[in-house]
Amino acid sequence: TDFKDMQFVCSAPTPRAFPDPEGPEIAFAGRSNAGKSSALNAICERVGLARTSKTPGRTQAINFFESGPLRFADLPGYGYARVPPATKAAWQALIEGYLSGRTTLTGVVLIMDARRPLTAFDRQFLDWGTRFGLAFHLILTKADKLSRNQQIKALRGVEQEIEGATMQLFSASKRQGIDEARAAIATLASA
Ligand code: GDP
Repeated sequence: TDFKDMQFVCSAPTPRAFPDPEGPEIAFAGRSNAGKSSALNAICERVGLARTSKTPGRTQAINFFESGPLRFADLPGYGYARVPPATKAAWQALIEGYLSGRTTLTGVVLIMDARRPLTAFDRQFLDWGTRFGLAFHLILTKADKLSRNQQIKALRGVEQEIEGATMQLFSASKRQGIDEARAAIATLASA
């Protein structure tokens, strides 16, 4: 797979707007500000491929990308402290509709800040995904903010709590773990 050739397909605010299910699809999820856009851009070597909205309450959408047969679905970040209930409900409906009904979805990459992984949102998301039978790869990003010892401790901590998922340390700014992430994505896509 050529991760460097990912092209924007469309932005879908409702399940009706999802592109036709084609090829293996990998979803990217994470708490807002976890570093998901930076991780996606580093993996695809494309500045600005994935963007985030820092505006709470803004209309949220799933952004689709593709390269050859492989599709990426960039899910809107979750966990703004002060989102209006209606926005939260819309987010949940969109994500649940996607996770439950997307026949081509073969795996989910969950991006977490290595300094505070497994937030309540992450746990809920893992719970949902697992219930829908999805395989997970966990990326602990911003590893550059931790010492080597702290990085290993963070990874071990998640390993002890989460069974049946692969996981790794990552840093977009230091370009750490990019090859490992690509290999894990390729494995999810071929499952
Ligand atoms: P998103 O909301 O999950 O898409 O997060 P972003 O990718 O927009 O990143 C949120 C903030 O974290 C930004 O200020 C980034 O510059 C910063 N950030 C993202 N990845 C890294 C990383 O690997 N290392 C460091 N030190 N900062 C990062």
